[in-house]
Amino acid sequence: MRTTNKPSSILIFLLLFVFTSALAAQETKLKWFGHAAFSIVTPNGKVLLIDPWLNNPSNPEARDGKDPLVALPKVDYILLTHGHRDHVGDAVLIAKKTGAALIANPELAGNLVKLADFPGNQVDSRYIMQMGGEIQIADGELMIGMTPAVHSSSVFNAKAGPNEPERAYGGSPAGFIIAVRNGPTIYHSGDTAYFRDMELIGENYSIDIALLNINQMGPKMSARAAQSVQAKLAIPHHFGTLPGMLQTAEAFIAELKKRKIAVHEMKPSETVSFRGRKMTKAK
Ligand SMILES: [Zn+2]
Ligand SMILES: [Zn+2]
Repeated sequence: MRTTNKPSSILIFLLLFVFTSALAAQETKLKWFGHAAFSIVTPNGKVLLIDPWLNNPSNPEARDGKDPLVALPKVDYILLTHGHRDHVGDAVLIAKKTGAALIANPELAGNLVKLADFPGNQVDSRYIMQMGGEIQIADGELMIGMTPAVHSSSVFNAKAGPNEPERAYGGSPAGFIIAVRNGPTIYHSGDTAYFRDMELIGENYSIDIALLNINQMGPKMSARAAQSVQAKLAIPHHFGTLPGMLQTAEAFIAELKKRKIAVHEMKPSETVSFRGRKMTKAK
């Protein structure tokens, strides 16, 4: 009996191991660094950074002289919604450190290379997008869509002479749809006012999570945005970073409650995990 029991218990253990590893491999991770900066790690381990101002004052990983780039894992793609400095953030340093490819509009990409020293060989025309465009990346594990944003955009030109404008053209501001295979579909609003065509985003995509800029839209219209894009879960961002900015998400959460939309308020440097399209844990 002993000899037959032993292999079968080993087999069960092995099966359990394979099963739990397969489940872990289906995980998508979303991390907020404060302000508009998020990272997404896909089930296959691809890493995306959106609007990576990691050195923003609300990021605990950037306090007390700490460098948030030290702990940064490999980065495959940097997505920029627009050229404002609180969104381009540390993109140039991160690109140089990790070799990540840039996903942005052509004017922003071109001027970042020319004026901000973004590595030109990491700007690939396959990843240059315009609003309404969609690209498949990471061997089809990710679909990136670029959505409109009602805002402005410019690239800060540190090389500008005394009679030259400091703000160079940055193309049109945008938002992103990030659809992860075996994971959630995420909408990042970028900086935008509310616009009624957000309803089209809700009709065209099955949004699981909406990362909404509650400072630009205000609590009431941000909640309306969550409803328009038909988000199953809303996560606020772009607040509490700088003086003069909306400091809490309280009013936004109250407005979402009225509309019966689920919300999760992340803390800077918090990571949430998703199995398939559902959030499993926050830490
Ligand atoms: Zn902006
Ligand atoms: Zn901003």
